[in-house]
Amino acid sequence: MRPIRTLIWFRNDLRVDDNPALNAAARHADRGVVAVYAICPKQWQDHDMAPIKVDFILRNLKKLSAALEKKNIALKIIETATFNDVTGPLRLLANELACDALYFNREYEVNERRRDAAVTEAFEADGIEVQTFTDQCVFEPGELRTGANGFYTIYTPFKRAWFRAFDEDPDRGKPLGLPKKQSDMVSQPDEIPTHVKGFDIDPTKSKLWPAGERNAKSRLNRFIAQKINSYKDTRDYPMIDGTSTLSPYLASGVISQRRCLAAAIVANAGQFATGPEGVVQWISELIWREFYKHILIGFPRVSMHKAFKPATEHLDWNQSAKHFQAWRDGKTGYPIVDAAMRQLAQIGWMHNRLRMIVAMFLSKNLFLDWRCGEQFFMQQLVDGDLSANNGGWQWAASTGTDAAPYFRIFNPCAQSKRFDPDAVFIRRFVPELAHVDIAAIHDPSRIPDTMLKSIDYPKPIVDHAATRRSAIAAFKTLKDEQLR
Ligand SMILES: Cc1cc2nc3c(=O)[nH]c(=O)nc-3n(C[C@H](O)[C@H](O)[C@H](O)COP(=O)(O)OP(=O)(O)OC[C@H]3O[C@@H](n4cnc5c(N)ncnc54)[C@H](O)[C@@H]3O)c2cc1C
Repeated sequence: MRPIRTLIWFRNDLRVDDNPALNAAARHADRGVVAVYAICPKQWQDHDMAPIKVDFILRNLKKLSAALEKKNIALKIIETATFNDVTGPLRLLANELACDALYFNREYEVNERRRDAAVTEAFEADGIEVQTFTDQCVFEPGELRTGANGFYTIYTPFKRAWFRAFDEDPDRGKPLGLPKKQSDMVSQPDEIPTHVKGFDIDPTKSKLWPAGERNAKSRLNRFIAQKINSYKDTRDYPMIDGTSTLSPYLASGVISQRRCLAAAIVANAGQFATGPEGVVQWISELIWREFYKHILIGFPRVSMHKAFKPATEHLDWNQSAKHFQAWRDGKTGYPIVDAAMRQLAQIGWMHNRLRMIVAMFLSKNLFLDWRCGEQFFMQQLVDGDLSANNGGWQWAASTGTDAAPYFRIFNPCAQSKRFDPDAVFIRRFVPELAHVDIAAIHDPSRIPDTMLKSIDYPKPIVDHAATRRSAIAAFKTLKDEQLR
């Protein structure tokens, strides 16, 4: 075999540990490895990428570049407006640095797949071999199929199939470790920009999400050592720091799904489907993440702004800009909703229970199109991820796969009482309610108008019972069989 030089293209996999494409690129090369990352500002804007996520990516690229340099691999940066423009500069780089092969880990969104198909075609036309790898999931999305070779559309049977497949082939979940060190650097690393035009970064938010694999791993280790056993009992309470907060690291690939899974399995004496409830529940959440990626492949319409359940496209959503503004600004008059939206604004992340509450409030009580909420979340979240975000929004709006039944609508007051009983979380993010008594915080209709005026807090913008009734009535106009 002739000696080869590989080009490894980083995307949502900003790490050296357990990176299948990097690992193979370093193993197969005998004339060195070059790494590349493409910054695509216009595409990122079109995809509603949040400035805090852009900042997180840039800071992680810096760490990645340093880690690669230790392996004698230079990270080059190219910048193109959109994915459509990537092929040219990537090809140029491969030719300039005499690369014989291009390696990358697969992505599953529609635009990303189109980009990858175009790049692959161009490289193969140049005689450059292209190899792609499964990275974001243990099982390649679409690989696990029903008995009739269909796509799973319900989570529980998907999870059972995942467990069966993993039981048969546990090696699929084994992390790969670090890539082989190269004997020589092929080129010098590029400077990593600290800003991308069009994305204004707030440095106080940045500090909350330290970059780098070491930080991701210590978050994982801390979670496994201190929190995983009580995860099932604490995960729904936003004032308790009971979840891993690894989502930004998983979304940008600073840590791998396999590394997280392996740590949970070790903590569970080698088991994955049985054992302490906290561990099994956390593994189930990682499988939810895979489930939504699997849905992207089976039903690409969900990444093209379409409902999973086509019948729900006939819903006549409200058009109130005033209500949308109140929701965005955390001024709906429902303290739990407002506290959640202010958490998102302040730290670029929101607790899962709260994501469900605010998504259901927007789509059912305000009866605004779930796509507005989905887009706003992407514009704010440090962990913005199309599959999980779309899955979560379509779950709440009852338009999605394995979604909440349309008639089961959260009562924000009951959710507040149940999941923030002492209103510790609410008072932290809605300080104007600091001196309002607990019963009124959970049921804001009890706060006298004079008090609302003096603390400058709005009256509830809609009535829960009335809006619940009209949302159910709207869904009932759709034919039942279309909703399944
Ligand atoms: C409306 C809505 C929007 C959401 N948008 C996103 C998003 O853009 N990006 C994102 O990563 N998650 C999203 N989620 C899922 C979930 O809220 C977050 O993954 C979770 O809150 C992250 O916190 P954590 O890392 O502490 O999670 P943990 O509870 O520690 O869970 C571990 C990991 O499992 C994955 N996970 C957990 N729950 C889910 C879930 N329901 N669906 C898919 N993956 C899950 C995440 O990668 C998470 O980091 C959304 C959920 C809803 C209801």
